[in-house]
Amino acid sequence: MEKTDIKSLDYEELQAFLTGMGEKPFRAKQIYQWMHEKLADGFSEMTNLSAALRERLEETCSYTCLEPVEILTSQIDGTQKFLFRLQDGHVIESVLMKYHHGNSVCISSQAGCRMGCRFCASTIGGLQRDLTVGELLDQVYRIQKLSGERVSNLVLMGTGEPLDNFENVKKFIRMLSDSHGLNISQRNITLSTCGLVPEIRRLAEEDFQITLALSLHASSQEKRKALMPVANRYEIGEVLDACRFYYEKTGRRLTFEYSLVGGVNDTKEDAGRLVGLVSGLNCHVNLIPVNPIKERDYVQSDKKTILNFKNKLENYGINVTIRREMGRDINGACGQLRRSFMEEKSHV
Ligand code: SAH
Repeated sequence: MEKTDIKSLDYEELQAFLTGMGEKPFRAKQIYQWMHEKLADGFSEMTNLSAALRERLEETCSYTCLEPVEILTSQIDGTQKFLFRLQDGHVIESVLMKYHHGNSVCISSQAGCRMGCRFCASTIGGLQRDLTVGELLDQVYRIQKLSGERVSNLVLMGTGEPLDNFENVKKFIRMLSDSHGLNISQRNITLSTCGLVPEIRRLAEEDFQITLALSLHASSQEKRKALMPVANRYEIGEVLDACRFYYEKTGRRLTFEYSLVGGVNDTKEDAGRLVGLVSGLNCHVNLIPVNPIKERDYVQSDKKTILNFKNKLENYGINVTIRREMGRDINGACGQLRRSFMEEKSHV
């Protein structure tokens, strides 16, 4: 019989599961608290349950508890990168960033990715599988436990396309922001997407208060197609319409991410076209100097080009920041820790 993935159950589902086993409803409260508030490593820690019940749970359930394989700490700003192994052997990467306003965790939504963005390391080996709700949650739980730091902000900006794992990500957001869990405010959660139009519209209907970040990265449909295969599915105009819809439904200011790639999307004309695309929208543009990866020959724009690009947007009254690079000494681009681990493994 297949075991029940207990950490992926929400409170009502857990209650139904336990009453189905003949247990009293208050057990659900205890067990939910152990998993989602006290962040227990396993059933053996749940000391207010009888030994017999713990044993039955061991027999019937799987308990997600990510195994840290490697933890790198930046000497510059304290940023920590975590490489976790999943129960079936896949590895994923998560990051803890410390800011004045609180600690932010960046999590992966899938093992691998099938979106194929040209500059991104996470997509090179393709998609292995979606992460479960328990695996999404446990990235935050393990990091909070291992670092001893309280996590107040969350970004879904690690490996994977969160809207390609829609149902699990939706449930994850609900459970993470629930008062019976870590109770992280939805206003402190940002979901970044390469622009899956129907899913952006579905997300808008969910009544969440999270921030939507769109990976735009280009100022025209043609240029976007050259960098992001997803643009073959959706026109840039349709994607921006979906973002506008998200804003109308939620009232949340939009974020546009724009990775500057030297000689590819960083000209004056690009800046001008970008102004045309986003002006009139309640938004913020985040410029990310592209992080070069060894598998591709994209380079960063030089400092002056980046500043000129920023100034041009500012001159038109657009809110813009250049993303501060965190953990420069432990970096490599997003997803590279995981890739180098996988490469090493495949050579032994
Ligand atoms: N799939 C989601 C989230 C994952 S990536 C998305 O596409 O938004 C988070 C952000 O980092 C995205 O904007 C992505 O395009 C960007 N990114 C990925 N690799 C990068 C690199 N090498 N340099 C700069 N930005 C990169």
